[in-house]
Amino acid sequence: MYIAMVSAECAPIAKAGGLGDVVHGLSRELLALGQEVEVFLPGYDSLRHDLIEGRREVYRDLRVPYFDRWIDCRVDSGEVDGVTCFFIESDSPHRFFQRGRIYGETDDADRFAFFCRAVLEFMLISGRRPDVIHCHDWQTALVPVLLFEIYQRLGLTDVRVCYSLHNLGYQGVVGESILRQVGLDPARLMTADRLRDPANPSAVNLMKGGIVFSNFVNTVSPRYAWEIQNTEQGMGLQAVLKTHDGKFGGVLNGIDDAVWNPATDRHIPEPFDADRLDGKEVNRRALRAYLGLVQDDKPIVAVVSRLDYQKGVHLLRFGIAHACALDCQLALLGAALDPVVAEQFRRLQEDTEGHPDCRLVLAYDEELSHLIYAGADMILIPSIYEPCGLTQMIAMKYGVVPIARRVGGLADTVLDANYSDRPFEERNGYLFDDLTESALAAAMERAIDLWRNHPEYFRQLQINGMRVDRSWGRPARQYLDIYSHIRVH
Ligand code: ADP
Repeated sequence: MYIAMVSAECAPIAKAGGLGDVVHGLSRELLALGQEVEVFLPGYDSLRHDLIEGRREVYRDLRVPYFDRWIDCRVDSGEVDGVTCFFIESDSPHRFFQRGRIYGETDDADRFAFFCRAVLEFMLISGRRPDVIHCHDWQTALVPVLLFEIYQRLGLTDVRVCYSLHNLGYQGVVGESILRQVGLDPARLMTADRLRDPANPSAVNLMKGGIVFSNFVNTVSPRYAWEIQNTEQGMGLQAVLKTHDGKFGGVLNGIDDAVWNPATDRHIPEPFDADRLDGKEVNRRALRAYLGLVQDDKPIVAVVSRLDYQKGVHLLRFGIAHACALDCQLALLGAALDPVVAEQFRRLQEDTEGHPDCRLVLAYDEELSHLIYAGADMILIPSIYEPCGLTQMIAMKYGVVPIARRVGGLADTVLDANYSDRPFEERNGYLFDDLTESALAAAMERAIDLWRNHPEYFRQLQINGMRVDRSWGRPARQYLDIYSHIRVH
């Protein structure tokens, strides 16, 4: 099968979060399963050019419609970890992809709408006829709309679309001129059953358009799939997801074994696995030394997270204080985009400066994240919502016991040590339900009590989490089933 991934991110060359990891990991696994895969990305100036092999121009003078004009584009291609990627670039005065970063610009919707039209124009002109286009999140939601409204008639006749929702917190709600920009007819599309936003009738909801026009829609865990249809987590899209229930499902993300594997990880001082868990002790010492924590035999509680509303920042702040109050060590690695949250954590960092057991690193640091996973005993993940969550899956691979809120993908992957209907050999962490300090505190206390008083059981929890296969093998086969299904239906 020929699968075209169209996305705003692909790790490691253009990554802002989990989406980049998914596109990269899934593409590589599909290739390994013998499929033909190509990834289409904006040609950002911020791409990690050093990680792209054999970059060359493959198309020049691609004329992409833009309102009642054209914008000339160029297309490059190159290989990233064996996957062929195409980069759409334009030298227009808009400088759509020359902003030094992926997101966060005031015209993000215009930039990515333009990208959607450019990708389809390139496929048409270059004779590419994918069996399936796989799009991701609001940025590429206009691909199915443009395909079925315009490009099918022009020649992309048998192309099917699978659309993945990675985060309903970002839907792309914008004014209707976005439709005119890409050559779509607002009068035809601004209806309740198409792209009109459920809350604001004068706005376009791009994610809704992706849901309505795609052949199949999925989100990144079964539990989040249920939540966004049936609870406020749908953030206004519950009804449209219910209407399209017949083509909707959840596929749990995988993690990349080549990157996240304590037995082969080059970023950590001592390799280990479930049969050699003692190797973790060397990493605990190295983590303490790196962060300047005292070498004391206390449990190390970690946080590795974007410091964002979604991640339950108020509970994270409480968790830091509570871990210290319970005589644990605390290692936080986190970066905040929101200035208010950034300031709160900067103050907390100041207050804990010099504390022998507490260190807050306010940065994005991929390498340090490996050392933290390798050295920590527990990790706090009190998310308000969590579509899938890679952090808990990575943590468990490294023998870190998650203390997580029972939402979304966390509920699908963390099985409570005390309260679970599953056998003990499958239990791997601690869950709490309420978004309250007391609920988090109770879960933390259960975990820390086990660490202190029943270390052999704690060790078993670690091993249980490490033994689960979280590779891309299974999810990639599930996506292949979806692709095969939509090719014939
Ligand atoms: P999200 O995509 O919502 O941020 P996920 O749990 O799906 O959350 O993925 C988070 C990924 O980003 C994990 O790989 C985690 O290790 C990594 N990460 C988060 N914050 C940082 C940070 N400050 N430094 C390094 N890696 C981070």
